[in-house]
Amino acid sequence: MVILKHYAWLIALAVFAVWSSAQIVLWPESIQNLVVFFPYVTVALGIFIALWLNRIQPVLILLSLGCFNAILFYFSSYALGVELTKETLFPVLIFLLPFNILLWILLPEKGVFNKRLNTLVLLVFLVEATIIYWALNDVPEAWLALLNTPMIKSSDIIMLSFSTGLMFLLTLFFIVLKMNQSSFKILYHAVFMVLVLMLYGVNQGFELSVLAWFSAFSAIVLTLSMIFEAHHIAYTDELTGIQGRRALMEYFLGMGKKYTVAMVDIDHFKKFNDTYGHDVGDEVLRRVASVLDGVKEGRAFRYGGEEFTLVFANKELEEVMAELEYIRRKVESGIIEFKTGIHSIKTHVTISIGAAESDESFKAQEVLKFADQALYEAKLAGRNQVVKGNYSPSKVQINQYKGSKNDRKSSGTSRSR
Ligand code: GH3
Ligand code: MG
Ligand code: MG
Repeated sequence: MVILKHYAWLIALAVFAVWSSAQIVLWPESIQNLVVFFPYVTVALGIFIALWLNRIQPVLILLSLGCFNAILFYFSSYALGVELTKETLFPVLIFLLPFNILLWILLPEKGVFNKRLNTLVLLVFLVEATIIYWALNDVPEAWLALLNTPMIKSSDIIMLSFSTGLMFLLTLFFIVLKMNQSSFKILYHAVFMVLVLMLYGVNQGFELSVLAWFSAFSAIVLTLSMIFEAHHIAYTDELTGIQGRRALMEYFLGMGKKYTVAMVDIDHFKKFNDTYGHDVGDEVLRRVASVLDGVKEGRAFRYGGEEFTLVFANKELEEVMAELEYIRRKVESGIIEFKTGIHSIKTHVTISIGAAESDESFKAQEVLKFADQALYEAKLAGRNQVVKGNYSPSKVQINQYKGSKNDRKSSGTSRSR
């Protein structure tokens, strides 16, 4: 679902970039001349955000895009002239661009202040500058010819050279590997799109404004991906991968009148942690979260610690009781198997659930408290069960209960001892 959302904007932006790139030639010359400066603005903005977020990979990819445009523009306008730039510099640069992106993607993300990494990057840039210098002065003709060997002879559609095409494909391949290896990273999907866009642009040959247009859109894609990824991180619980409390509170803001809330708490989890260790405990949290995340017609959030919240929009309490019971049983029957030394241990955990439905006279936060009180009752009644919140006679009780969450916790713990 999250992935689809991101594919939607990535594809929409890419389609717009491709469509609009074909319009550039129709624009007045004064605007066309401005297009070549467009990447610098977007790259600078992107680098600023990447530095702010302490992400070295996007900084370097953006820097490479900026340098790519700056070098082409400088040499074609001042130093070499269009023809020479096109024949000697362009083939080298369009090989180096995907090569650089590949390098930066393979580097570990260590933030922007890692000295060793930055020295390595500086070294790469120096080597590349030397290669460019060499290419401009005395690179053997045969090498340039090799670099210019077309991928497909006399094709009107694919005009790329063999080496460039191969480098782009190799980089795309590694990015797909990265996408599969790591947990969801929007940045890698964005880099994939950047490569596709630049490949499309480069395939059209040496057209400064077209290349600048695609570079600018690439920088926009990268910048947006960083912002969306930061948002994703802020709203997602790192351990379990489901949404966190911030997302829950925001979800409540847009909630209609009718809904049901369930508070879920793992039973005797402290004891479980003490017996099997924190790592196994973490794994259990992931498992429970994944069961809860599969809830039908509701949304699961990690409220904090070993507590989760389920929210069913447009549902009354009675409508979701069967589903809650199903979830409780599913957790209970899930076998947790792990090894400690030579022993293989099989165990399971149970959960208690307290549920309450909305009432016009209460805010969502209060309904949440009613659910929490029902959860407390479930614990008192022996755990591993679902209890319905019955809040009409206990309004007073609830008011007393406000802000005393810790009391419940401590009493729950003492009972479990
Ligand atoms: P009860 O049945 O009354 O809920 O008992 P309990 O032991 O589950 O409740 P209590 O609130 O006393 O303990 C909660 C425990 O959850 C304490 C802590 O060790 C564990 N816990 C909270 N967050 C995490 C986490 O992120 N990872 C792990 N492994 N344990 C966690
Ligand atoms: Mg708890
Ligand atoms: Mg608990």
